[in-house]
Amino acid sequence: MTSTRDHGYARYKLDGCRCYTCGWAVAQYRDAREHAIRRGEWQPYVDAAPVREHLERLRACSLGLRRVAEIVHVDRKRLQVILNGRPERGTELQEQVRPALAAAVLRVEPTLDNLGSATPISSVGTHRRLTALVAAGWPQAHLAKRLGMSDGNFSSLLGRSQVIVRTARLVRSVYDELWLSDPREHGVGTQPFSRARNHGASHQWAPPGAWDEDTIDDPAAFPDWTGRCGTPGGCHIHSRIGVPACQPCRIARQKARAAARDTTA
Ligand SMILES: [Zn+2]
Ligand SMILES: [Zn+2]
Repeated sequence: MTSTRDHGYARYKLDGCRCYTCGWAVAQYRDAREHAIRRGEWQPYVDAAPVREHLERLRACSLGLRRVAEIVHVDRKRLQVILNGRPERGTELQEQVRPALAAAVLRVEPTLDNLGSATPISSVGTHRRLTALVAAGWPQAHLAKRLGMSDGNFSSLLGRSQVIVRTARLVRSVYDELWLSDPREHGVGTQPFSRARNHGASHQWAPPGAWDEDTIDDPAAFPDWTGRCGTPGGCHIHSRIGVPACQPCRIARQKARAAARDTTA
């Protein structure tokens, strides 16, 4: 299962694509949207066009009018009018909208909580959470059971680049419940515990402590094994704690060495 979305806002948000086209689309759009929200702070009415554009973007993320109306607590018809005009009065579009409604709609993001449960999204955060739990000593069979999955489905989940929102939410809630707990105090035997940890270590799966809850779903984020990953000092800590140096640490060391060569040359 790979994404069929075009590069741009929806692909950035849902598939985690970080290519130039997607990054540019999101950065430009963020500026325009903040501008539109600010304009509303000192005007009784604002242009409806940015709101319409945002509704269209949300729709491209499979976030329809009904759901947006629920999130911002307005009648769906009020959004319908912004999007499609009033057919009974000709097809002219609504040109202006109250700033509070504009800001509320413009602030809706296609997040895990907002999206429809069957929407396919990137599996990055789901994989990170599951592999982190295994690295912390939770056996895959135990996790599969908690997720209501067979061992086979659990394994194939780890191999997929996309998951549906329902699965991602379920994994997130299991992760939130377990990541601070000791598996051995929750019915996991000492041997399965050690086997899971060894399995995680052999795959270099980052444990929960290496992830930040705010960025674990961001494809650009990397696990911080040492507390200083991505800085020149990271590699020393890696060798001290016996974890192979991660990519950001290796790059930081290369850069530091190159800088040192330049100053001594
Ligand atoms: Zn892209
Ligand atoms: Zn590192």
